[in-house]
Amino acid sequence: MRWGLAGASTIASEHMIPAFRAHGDEVSWVASGNPDRALHYAADHGIGRAFGSLEEALAAGGVDAVYISSTNEKHAPQALAAIAAGAHVLCEKPLAMNLAEAADMVEKAQQAGVVFATNHHLRCAGSHRAIRDLIAAGAVGQVLSMRVHHAVHLPPHLQGWRINDAGAGGGVVPDITVHDADTVRFLLGEDPIEVTALDGTSGMGEGVEDSVMSIWAMPSGAMVFAHESFTHPFAGSAVEVHGTLGSIFAQGVMTQRPVGEIELVTADGRRNVPFSNHNLYVEGVRMFREAVRGSGQPSATGLDGINSLRVALAVREAARSGQRVAVNYGA
Ligand code: NDP
Repeated sequence: MRWGLAGASTIASEHMIPAFRAHGDEVSWVASGNPDRALHYAADHGIGRAFGSLEEALAAGGVDAVYISSTNEKHAPQALAAIAAGAHVLCEKPLAMNLAEAADMVEKAQQAGVVFATNHHLRCAGSHRAIRDLIAAGAVGQVLSMRVHHAVHLPPHLQGWRINDAGAGGGVVPDITVHDADTVRFLLGEDPIEVTALDGTSGMGEGVEDSVMSIWAMPSGAMVFAHESFTHPFAGSAVEVHGTLGSIFAQGVMTQRPVGEIELVTADGRRNVPFSNHNLYVEGVRMFREAVRGSGQPSATGLDGINSLRVALAVREAARSGQRVAVNYGA
C-alpha cells in the first residue's frame, strides 16, 4: 500500500513509518503546514515527496491511505479532505475536538466506502489481549472493579502543544484518558455510563490539565478508577482487574512497547501469564491493511474512536463542573 502522511510528527517518525515499511508499504509523501519542515522531514525519513499543505498533497495523489498525526484540532478537517479524495484513513486519537466532528468523519468515511480507523495502539498489545482473554474465560469471575494507572512523565521533546495549547487539543485528558477509555472498553467489552473526576496541574500544564483522576460506572456494576498524568517520572503504569474469583495485576503495560508483566492471583495462588511481544503499531497496520483488503475490521474502528472521545469529554466536563456526568451516547 502507498501511504501519505498528514503531519510531520514524532509518532510517525518513531513508530508509524517503520510500521508501514515493516509490511513492505511505501510512504509516498508527507504533508506539513510548513513547507521547509516537510522537506527536511522527507529527507530525514527517505520519503519521496514533500508538500506544504495537505490539499496540494491530495491533489498530487498517488496514495491509497492517509495517516493523520497532526495536532488534534487538525484531525477532523484533514480526515474529511482525505476521505473526499477517496483515501482510506488511519487517524490518531483523539479523533477530533468534539463529538460532532468525530461523528462527521466516521459518517463521511462510511458514505465514501473507505476504511476509517483510530490509532488506539494498546488494544494491539499482546498484554492487553491476554488480559481480555483471561477476563472472557472467567479467570477472575465477575469483574467488580478495574484500576488504570497511567501517570507517566512526558519526555522533554513532547513538552510542546500538549502542555500549553488548548486550541491544538492539549491536556492529559485528550492525550491519555482517551487511550484508557479505549483500553477499558476493549478489556471489559462495555461502555462507561457516567463519570466523576478531579483534574489539576502539577508542574507542566499551562492553561490545560496535566493530571486527572476519574471514576467510571460501568453497566455491569463494575467501577473503574483511572489516573492519567504527564508529571510522574517514577510511578510506572499498570492495569488491575479485580473480580469475585481472582485479580489480574498487569505492570508496565500502558506503553507503546510490547513489555510488562501480568500476574493472575486466585485461590490457587499466583501465576505469571505469558503474552506475545509483537510490535503494537505493526499489528495495528496489519489489521488496517486487512480491512482495506475487505477482510475484517481495523483494530480500533472509527466508532471506537468516537466512544473513547465520549468518555474523555465526560471526564473533562466532570472535572470542570465538579458534577457526576453521564457519558453522551446521543447523536
Ligand atoms: P508532534 O508535536 O511531534 O507533531 C504534531 C504536529 O506538530 C506535526 O504534525 C507538525 O505540524 C508539528 N511539529 C512537529 N515537530 C515540529 C517542530 N519541530 N517544529 C514545529 N512544529 C512541529 O506530535 P506527536 O507526534 O507527539 O502527536 C501527533 C498526534 O499523534 C497527536 O494527535 C497525538 O495525540 C497522537 N499520538 C498518538 C500516539 C499513539 O500511540 N497512538 C502516540 C503519540 C501521539 P504539521 O502538521 O504542520 O507538520
